[in-house]
Amino acid sequence: MRAAITVLPGDGIGPEVVAQATRVLAAVGERWGHVFTLREALIGGAAIDQTGTALPPETLAVARETDAVLLGAVGGPKWDDPRAKVRPEQGLLAIRKGLGLFANLRPVAVNGKLLHASPLRPERLAGVDLLVVRELTGGIYFGDKLRDADKASDSCTYTVTEVERIVRTAARIARGRRKKLCSVDKANVLETSRLWRETTERVMKQEFSDVALSHMLVDACAMQLIRKPADFDVIVTENMFGDILTDEASMLAGSMGMLPSASLGEGKSGLYEPIHGSAPDIMGKGIANPYATILSVALLLRHSLGLETEAAAVERAVDAAVDRGVFPVDIAPSGVSPASTGAAGDAVVAALRQ
Ligand code: NAD
Repeated sequence: MRAAITVLPGDGIGPEVVAQATRVLAAVGERWGHVFTLREALIGGAAIDQTGTALPPETLAVARETDAVLLGAVGGPKWDDPRAKVRPEQGLLAIRKGLGLFANLRPVAVNGKLLHASPLRPERLAGVDLLVVRELTGGIYFGDKLRDADKASDSCTYTVTEVERIVRTAARIARGRRKKLCSVDKANVLETSRLWRETTERVMKQEFSDVALSHMLVDACAMQLIRKPADFDVIVTENMFGDILTDEASMLAGSMGMLPSASLGEGKSGLYEPIHGSAPDIMGKGIANPYATILSVALLLRHSLGLETEAAAVERAVDAAVDRGVFPVDIAPSGVSPASTGAAGDAVVAALRQ
């Protein structure tokens, strides 16, 4: 196949990890005979320095023309002045909005060789392979905000359409996995959650009767994610609950350096990025863990290009690199000398070529 991909290296370790991810993309192209055309563009602090804005219009235009977007990370101390009018994170919000991305996917799978990196006991982690689908553009973060001298409020609103489209996205993905969807809400207290639950039940009954639906209150879900994480397949939830639960779930895998994410809209296109930031404390040292960005390439192949075999092969190649003991700094057990960013990329490319 032929596909065009926008590449946004961004700031800090972004360019370092993206460089390894694009090597992996090239290796996939070579092995399966695909032609991937990469179009690099500016975002974040790098874009502010060169153009004065965190998302130049040319970047959004390129992103709209291509089949998918691969992003490193944005931000850093250079642009951290809280009084600044232009900030790197504005680039992220603007590109999500500009591309109409409303579903944020965060898979968490635990490699048996990385149990030492998680704060949980190993027996709790066996078999963990879950995916959180978070609604990204509605809810309390985007509702009306009011502030008086002695009072403040944030309003939470969801429409039926917003709930329907995120539930459909999550259910379609669950259908391709273990066919279990857990919808997380706070329906005992919140009106938006009652609408969420009713809508979810209707959509699932009418369109996805082959996928098993369960409901869980968000407080119970926070507990079960630690108590029995292997029980979950796909979780679908609203914006703020998802924000909190995805950070909690990320600790199951031990390090942010292992976790990819995808943001999807109605069409095939999407934005793929590691969940970590620009890690200015280690930038330029060649030690950043590129696995999360490489696993984001796997998500891109699966969700935007429909290349499931290739996506699974990239995931297996990262597993193989970890199995061989190629541990970057954030996941290296004590006493083991860490692999460089390039060595981790080499190990994945080598595994893909085998
Ligand atoms: P961070 O994720 O950049 O780093 C947190 C810690 O994890 C650091 O010690 C870092 O060295 C380590 N770390 C992160 N990724 C790693 C990797 N791949 N390999 C090895 N170690 C890794 O979070 P932070 O320090 O809170 O933020 C730094 C900057 O990144 C800030 O400017 C913040 O706004 C920005 N940020 C950007 C995004 C994004 O682009 N999506 C997300 C979060 C933070």
